[in-house]
Amino acid sequence: MRLIRWLVPVLIWLAGCLVVGRAADGAEVMLPEKFQRLLPLHEPLGKPGPFDWLAHHPEPGQTFGQYVASRPVVPDRRRRTIYVQPLGEFTEAQQRIVELAGRYLRIYFDLPAEVRPAMPLKLIPASARRRHPEWGMEQVLTGYVLEKILWPRLPRDAGAYLAFTPTDLWPGEGWNFVFGQASLRQRVGVWSIYRFGDPDRDDETFRLCLKRTIKTAAHETAHMFSMLHCIQFRCAMNGSNHLAESDRRPLWLCPHCLAKLCWATKADPEKRFRDLAAFCTEQGFDEEAEFFRKSLAAIQGRR
Ligand SMILES: [Zn+2]
Ligand SMILES: [Zn+2]
Repeated sequence: MRLIRWLVPVLIWLAGCLVVGRAADGAEVMLPEKFQRLLPLHEPLGKPGPFDWLAHHPEPGQTFGQYVASRPVVPDRRRRTIYVQPLGEFTEAQQRIVELAGRYLRIYFDLPAEVRPAMPLKLIPASARRRHPEWGMEQVLTGYVLEKILWPRLPRDAGAYLAFTPTDLWPGEGWNFVFGQASLRQRVGVWSIYRFGDPDRDDETFRLCLKRTIKTAAHETAHMFSMLHCIQFRCAMNGSNHLAESDRRPLWLCPHCLAKLCWATKADPEKRFRDLAAFCTEQGFDEEAEFFRKSLAAIQGRR
């Protein structure tokens, strides 16, 4: 009798947890305990400056619970490969950066990632190109790349199909340029590395261009898996309005965004931290390598 008296409230509590877990707005779904162990390593995002993303695009953010409840688009058994598509003429250093971005995505999402053979810029007709009227550089129309180049060639097993081009991009009338554009429902996107610095100049500019490219590739792929911008912590999923703001954005994800990624892709966070630390050490990103090593220790409960 005493056992039943004890058991009944526990069962009611458990049922409550399950209902909360399926709450329509998801707000009550808790961040899993192992990801909570990472919280002390992360800084709040803080107030945006006058030109920063959140000053111009007030956004609600998205907790882990809200993400789970939003029925996100996630990679499944049929569509799980991330394809990187070079578009245009790459220098040897730019080509290396795109290859490294492919490797980074494989580690970051723990999904197959593949760099496809480059496609020539001549696929894009004169009507979808221009010279910038004041600055003079050649630019390619993003909408054409998305609709006419990528979408018809989307591989069947693609979780995401991301093109990178060394040419500058513009999205149409009234714009000077754009860093990139994506069609999330169609899982295609194009980004330019034109404004990421000259990786052929020296090791430092190579590293800077690489860091900017992998940051963009990971951020945009996460959007394709329905992850929204993060407004709570300094996080790879922070929105960014300009290059200085993207440069401030870290390579790492906050615990909520990491929990979303691991939930969506079934990635093992410990393996991921280990592999990211190795990648960052190899590329000379020492601060990031240290952060991923600390994160590994924290998630394992070693500190
Ligand atoms: Zn974004
Ligand atoms: Zn975040």
